[in-house]
Amino acid sequence: LKSKGKNGYQFFTASMKELAERRLEKEISLSQGLEKGEFILYYQPKINIDTKEIYGMEALVRWNRSNSLIPPGEFIELAEETGLIVPLGEWVLREACRQCKEWRELGYTQLKVSVNVSAVQFQKQDFAELTARVLEETGLEPSALELELTESTIMDKPKEAAVILLRLQQLGVSISIDDFGTGFSSFSYLKQFPMNVLKIDRSFIQNIAEEGADQAIAKAMISLAHNLGLMIVAEGVETEEQLGILEEAGCDAAQGYFISRPLTAGAFLDYLKSRHLN
Ligand code: C2E
Ligand code: CA
Ligand code: CA
Ligand code: CA
Repeated sequence: LKSKGKNGYQFFTASMKELAERRLEKEISLSQGLEKGEFILYYQPKINIDTKEIYGMEALVRWNRSNSLIPPGEFIELAEETGLIVPLGEWVLREACRQCKEWRELGYTQLKVSVNVSAVQFQKQDFAELTARVLEETGLEPSALELELTESTIMDKPKEAAVILLRLQQLGVSISIDDFGTGFSSFSYLKQFPMNVLKIDRSFIQNIAEEGADQAIAKAMISLAHNLGLMIVAEGVETEEQLGILEEAGCDAAQGYFISRPLTAGAFLDYLKSRHLN
């Protein structure tokens, strides 16, 4: 290190130290934020492509930190690395179930909620028990809960995952494969694990209006899902044209900015009311 010169060495250590400090600060404020109740859930509507009816919503967490709304992309990874994702994820699951139950009791009795589950959270021994407990505490019917997992979350420890998935399925909870097609796993896992829904990743939807590889892949995913008896949902639908192609291709459901951005709980309820009364 000395051969690189005194200044170079000092510069290097200073910036590393700064980075570590910033990370620690963020970690502390993340954990305090959880205690102070600074996290909120937004809900993005999902529609049935045939009827255009809202049948459910995906819960998406945000951090309301000193009047700015921080997106999950900026804190989920740190929460995973520090283990804070476990209490945070538990809060998300409980709050999403509580909220869904409340809306169902208002008369939207068919509404389903989807919750994103991180690998760290899923691989904890008692994840299925936690889910059972949260359903019982909130009174939400298990069939109204869908858990979104990525392929890598399942394939990381396939034997353990199979046990947890089986227990979740016995509870009556739906399993959805998020970001489908972006991982590197073979399709064979699809028949080895209990699952209900595939979500076509936004990257395939982006160019679906052009007759190219993405359109071909999306169409193949739709028939693959149907041949396996699974429901298929497209995420990141931003245009009417994309929705039209998905409808024509027989995709079951869609979510994305063209339908609605993620909404606060209050705005989601207003949206539900406006869609149901006309
Ligand atoms: P994801 O599960 O793939 O969620 C979809 C993301 O795409 C969301 O970003 C959503 O706001 C965004 N999105 C929806 N429709 C459109 C569209 O039409 N166009 C575009 N460009 N984007 C769209 P968000 O809310 O920032 O979440 C990012 C990721 O953070 C999620 O990706 C998910 O992996 C993770 N995440 C969010 N909430 C949670 C949570 O409660 N727990 C865990 N473990 N992860 C979460
Ligand atoms: Ca998701
Ligand atoms: Ca996704
Ligand atoms: Ca995605």
